[in-house]
Amino acid sequence: MSPDSPRAEVVVDLAALRHNVALLASRAAASGAATMAVVKADGYGHGAVPVARAALQAGATWLGACSLDEALTLRAAGITAPLLTWLDLPATDFAPGIAADVDLSAGSLHELARIAEAARRAGKKARVHLKIDTGLSRNGCPAADWPALVKEAAAEPAVEVVAIWSHLACADEPGHPSIDRQADRFAAAYGIAREAGLNPLRHLANSAATLNRPDLHFDLVRPGIAIYGLNPNPEPEDLRPVMTFRSSVVLTKRIRAGESVSYGHTWTAQRDTTLALVPTGYADGVPRTLSGRMDVWLHGKRRPVAGRVCMDQLVVDCGDDEPPLGAEVVLFGDGANGEPTAREWADKIGTIDYEIVTGMYRPRIRRRYL
Ligand code: PLP
Repeated sequence: MSPDSPRAEVVVDLAALRHNVALLASRAAASGAATMAVVKADGYGHGAVPVARAALQAGATWLGACSLDEALTLRAAGITAPLLTWLDLPATDFAPGIAADVDLSAGSLHELARIAEAARRAGKKARVHLKIDTGLSRNGCPAADWPALVKEAAAEPAVEVVAIWSHLACADEPGHPSIDRQADRFAAAYGIAREAGLNPLRHLANSAATLNRPDLHFDLVRPGIAIYGLNPNPEPEDLRPVMTFRSSVVLTKRIRAGESVSYGHTWTAQRDTTLALVPTGYADGVPRTLSGRMDVWLHGKRRPVAGRVCMDQLVVDCGDDEPPLGAEVVLFGDGANGEPTAREWADKIGTIDYEIVTGMYRPRIRRRYL
């Protein structure tokens, strides 16, 4: 087997990522907005550091991460772009983040106080984005508490209020009434911030709203999934899927009609056929619930997986074809030749493609960058 015949490998096409970022950044720029590439969850399973570097080359000027740990990993890699983190633990010490110029989100007086205390220890002003909960009902400040948070932040010498921000619940359902309701609440929150003497940036739009609601771009957009080439909207967009999940054939064998395959013998050959063994299974991110309804791209064709997906392997029905040992197996890719896509997997198992690609962040899977 050549090194190009992996057991399980994710190939990340950074040229495709740059294409997607350039498209999103040009949409944002048309409304005067900058672009924050969201690289949380290790770049949605694609590798945060290479993704961040490529996104910055392609026109993003900000980065977004979930936790301070993720942000500090980017800083340790030498990435100096403005960087926001928004979900930390009550025990997180913000001082290293402040020292490393990481912007922090505050959605409560308690969070603001912890950030201010850390800033005093760090001997440096903290850059803070105040988060208003406009209707997603996750983190962020409830509207009733917003005036107090804004007043306290404006008066706190240890922090600089860089922005106010919020997150949309249903942007991928164009016309959903919650979108305008959230936008109205965001406008009201901004008015209160202005009355308190602040002049913050505003950011609200995720990928879906970056693509379909230019009126909600404000100063900065925060696309995640679309930079990875996955379109959250019903309307088609010129996005290129960035991740290909591949493996290779390690064994072929002929079986007779009537022989059954894999655990539980849920699949029986209807004719004499050739099976190809692929050393990738549910421990590598192939959902076992795809058993009996998944195909792979192998030797120039889509072919069905026979029987159950196992922990480390699956079996492909190749009919009368005999793929060579080491032949490439695409489990999902960009679909350009008809290979399965992450969206196809997601639709089949009742989830979203976000979950498929972030699930590829596994120690057993090798990553390669194009
Ligand atoms: N902003 C925040 C706060 C998020 O949590 C996320 C991801 O869930 C994004 C932006 C990017 O969202 P999307 O991947 O839908 O573009």
